[in-house]
This record gives sequence, structure tokens and C-alpha cells, in this order.
Amino acid sequence: MTSDTKTMILPITEIEQAAFCQTDDDLQAKTLEEEFQAGVRWQKIPIEYLKCSPEDLESRISDSKEALGENVLILGHHYQREEVIKFADLRGDSFKLSQFAATQNKAEHIVFCGVHFMAETADVLSGPHQKVILPNITAGCSMADMASTDDVLDCWEELESVLSSVGGVIPITYMNSTAAIKALCGRNGGIVCTSSNASASFEWAFKRGQRVLFLPDQHLGRNTAHKLGIGNDEMLVWNPYKYLGGHTEQALRDAKVILWQGHCSVHTRFSTSQIEDARAKHPDVTVVVHPECTRDVVELADLNGSTEYIIKVVKEAPSDTTWAVGTEISLVNRLSKENPDKTIFCLDSVVCPCSTMYRIHPAYLAWVLDGLKEGVVVNQVKVDDKTSIEAQVALDRMLSLAG
Ligand code: SF4
Repeated sequence: MTSDTKTMILPITEIEQAAFCQTDDDLQAKTLEEEFQAGVRWQKIPIEYLKCSPEDLESRISDSKEALGENVLILGHHYQREEVIKFADLRGDSFKLSQFAATQNKAEHIVFCGVHFMAETADVLSGPHQKVILPNITAGCSMADMASTDDVLDCWEELESVLSSVGGVIPITYMNSTAAIKALCGRNGGIVCTSSNASASFEWAFKRGQRVLFLPDQHLGRNTAHKLGIGNDEMLVWNPYKYLGGHTEQALRDAKVILWQGHCSVHTRFSTSQIEDARAKHPDVTVVVHPECTRDVVELADLNGSTEYIIKVVKEAPSDTTWAVGTEISLVNRLSKENPDKTIFCLDSVVCPCSTMYRIHPAYLAWVLDGLKEGVVVNQVKVDDKTSIEAQVALDRMLSLAG
């Protein structure tokens, strides 16, 4: 890169994040046509699906699923809306879903109800005879969109020019990144991680080098580094819009952890004042948050951990306990319904689903399943062979770690 700065581009996924925030405590099922009225830019779909009522869509999806049988496997991320997750054969966070993709070799078609980077990962890890389908091809992730492949390649080139003579840097990318970034990690001695195994991936990396580049979530990177005793003074944030990320060569050489300047639009909504309010209203509350939350929130919470950890700790808690949960609202609502013996609420009183997970409206699921019944594959996500081979190296390193 020759210039000192680049123009900052805000991902559309970040701009749309507030489109479905509301103050009711329930997200009502609506037709796709009604949801389009929020002004979102989702994938176009045949007009017959736009007006289908939630009830019609439900019976249409059930019929198609039955007709397709074992030929189709539906994977569902925990942040999916109720009307979609109910059709998932297997549910999980991104780590669990990648394990399923690596081991479930029977179905010819994997319909991935999640976001684009997860479907790419499923394509890399699934068998060569399997096709991965993302029902709405515009279901991205605002965090992943904050690390464009080109910007990361520029960053890597600049870091190599400064650090290769002083021990280099080990790249770790969070699962929420493009397959091309995972491939960069694979070919440069790096690894992929999820929030379930971020600490283990840091330990893995520090056995192999003295510095880590962590992409793309600065908060998960910072929270994980703190767990391992690394202080703020040993970390830098890489600003992709500035030459050398906005740092001097010496500062980069002195850093132990270089954090990409990205964040999750959902988890950075949680604040310390919400935790204080929850404790004032419910003195016996336990606060559990996801490590994509900011450092001050994680520090003030009682517990923090991955989506699977949050589900486990709440499910296994004694009856009559009270939980304030700092993660995506579809999951918190589901936890509350599935654990009626406990009081469970979201830390944020405004209901905000992950707007990109929310893009998987049941109309899209009905559309892709109808296509499969007719022998037509719509929205296949396919990673090219070279990228896939290199990304798999970094993913296999992750899968070999203890969760
Ligand atoms: S919750 Fe955050 S990190 Fe997860 S898919 Fe949504 S925007 Fe991306």
C-alpha cells in the first residue's frame, strides 16, 4: 500500500443493524413483504414468496422437508429466528456447526441457516459430493464485513515487512471471516478459532511465535488476551484505514497482540450501566455475557463465554435463579422459553436481533427447499479449490484443539 490512509467504508450490514430493533419483548412472525418495509436490501426472491403468510410458509417448509428426507440436512445457528430454527436438524454455535459440517457426510445438500462465512466454512469442511446452500445469499455478518480480504492482505504485507526479521507474527482469525482470510492463516502457520476455543488458539499460537495478529474482532481478542495475563500495554489495535495500522514500526515490534479494528454490532450494544440496572432491579441476578462484548462489560459481568457456554450454564443452573444475558435476542428468548423454572432476560431492554442472521426469513428457506424438490440448487456457496485447501489447514488446526 502506498498512501497513508484509505477511505473508510461502513458495511451495509452495520448500517442495517437497527432495522428490526423494537421495544416489544417478542419478535412477531411477518410476511417477507412486510419485513422489506424496513427498507433493508435483502436478496430478491420470486414474488409468490413475498406474500406467503407465516402459517403457509410453515406448512410449505414441512412438506418440502418431508419430501426431501435424508437428502437434505438443515443446520441452524442459535441466533436464528424461531420460525426457522424449528426446522433445523442440528443446532449449534459456529464451532459446533463446523464440527457437524465436517462429520455429517450423508446428505447431498446442506441448507445452512446462518450467515455467509459459516456456509463457506461448511463448504470447506463437508465432503466433495455435498453442496452447501445459504437461503438468503445476502446474510453476511457485519463483523466479518469489517475485515475485507484485500485490507487483510495489505495488513499482512505491511506486518511482514516490519516483523519478519524479528520473529514474525502468527495470524489467528475468528471463524467470522472470509474463507480467503482463513486461507491466509493456513498458509502462514496460523489458525482459526471460535469463542469456544479462543484461549486454546492463543496458547497454540504462543507456542509457535512471540506475537499474534487477531482478526477481526478486537473485543474477543482483547478479552482472550486478558484471560491469559496479557495487559493492554502489550496490545495494539490495527486500523485498516491507516498505513501500518496507524502505528510506528517500533510499536508493532514491541506488541504481543495486534487486534484488528472490528466488532460485533450486536454484542457491543451491551453496557456496564445495563449490568448495574439489572443488579439494582434483581439483587440475586447472575450476569453472563458473550466475549464479543467490550472489555468493561466482560469485566463487570459475573460470567462470560461462548454461545454454547451460555446455554449450558443457564440450563444447568438451579431452579428459581435469575439470569441477565448479554447475547443475541433470539437465543435469549429461546433460553427463557425452554427454562420456565428460571427468570431469564436480555441485558438490553430494546429487542435487537442480529440483523444479518435475521435475513434468513422462512420465505427464503421455503424457496430453496422448493428448488431442491425440482432438482434446482439456488444460492450454492462454493469456495474455490486453492482457497479451500489452505483454509482447511487452519480449520483442521482449530478442530484438533480441545473446545
Ligand atoms: S451476532 Fe455479531 S458476530 Fe454474530 S453474525 Fe451477528 S453481527 Fe456477526
